[in-house]
Amino acid sequence: MNLFSLEGKVAIVTGGNRGLGGAMAYGLAQAGADIAIIQRSSGEPETVSRIRKLGRKCESYSFDLTNTSKIPQLLQEIKKEFGGIDILINNAGVQRRSPSIDFTEEDWDIVMQVNTKSVFFLCQAVGKEMLSNGKGKIINIASLLSFQGGFTVPAYAASKGAVAQFTKSLSNEWASKGVNVNGVAPGYMETEMNTALITDETRNREILKRIPAGRWGQPEDLVGVAVFLSSNASDYINGEIITVDGGWMGR
Ligand code: NDP
Repeated sequence: MNLFSLEGKVAIVTGGNRGLGGAMAYGLAQAGADIAIIQRSSGEPETVSRIRKLGRKCESYSFDLTNTSKIPQLLQEIKKEFGGIDILINNAGVQRRSPSIDFTEEDWDIVMQVNTKSVFFLCQAVGKEMLSNGKGKIINIASLLSFQGGFTVPAYAASKGAVAQFTKSLSNEWASKGVNVNGVAPGYMETEMNTALITDETRNREILKRIPAGRWGQPEDLVGVAVFLSSNASDYINGEIITVDGGWMGR
């Protein structure tokens, strides 16, 4: 299906070393894209060698996304290595859990910096390149907490609400210029970020009870939507936030 092919495309996936980002980076590579991974930690993640085994180019960049002022410099480096940027998946994110009454300023700031501020400025920096090419695909990873308040995660809910809103703002400005900006709101996915919920028997049971699909999501459940929103198949989809949640939001 050529409509879904990413042959010859270059994708940046933040947090593409592991978790949901790791699965999406690998999935995009299977669809034909070369991949630049941005991660916080140092060292080459296993995802890089897995992608290279597919015959695709893949490099990882250790970069703390809270350094927003250095983002343009990082992108120059990636462009030099890959020749251009066609797809950006803003996936990196952090979580901090605490009752709101005790929530610290430090936790608030880190969540907003990684989940919201860095996402906007990556969109801006990559958007410049895409607008000058007259094409590009940006996918921001939102959350069910873009729509709901969650429980003991006030900064996370605020940060993901903001991501959904500015995804629409950017889309309104850039849709007519060939750049698609969309979001994906994953449901409850089995990754390290959710260890606290998965290991809490009561919360785990409550969560599962509300998921019509009857199971936690797996990172691979996001591959289809990531490839779709990165490909020509989604050229007339703009400013949408697609939930991938086993039916949670419909309940
Ligand atoms: P993980 O905790 O498994 O992975 C987080 C990723 O973000 C890692 O790759 C990490 O890099 C990277 N990262 C974190 N902080 C920084 C930083 N300062 N600079 C650069 N990279 C950073 O998370 P998930 O895979 O579960 O989540 C991925 C995205 O999906 C997040 O935005 C999350 O909010 C969202 N999401 C997740 C859901 C879930 O149920 N898991 C549900 C809804 C949304 P490193 O490994 O180097 O630390």
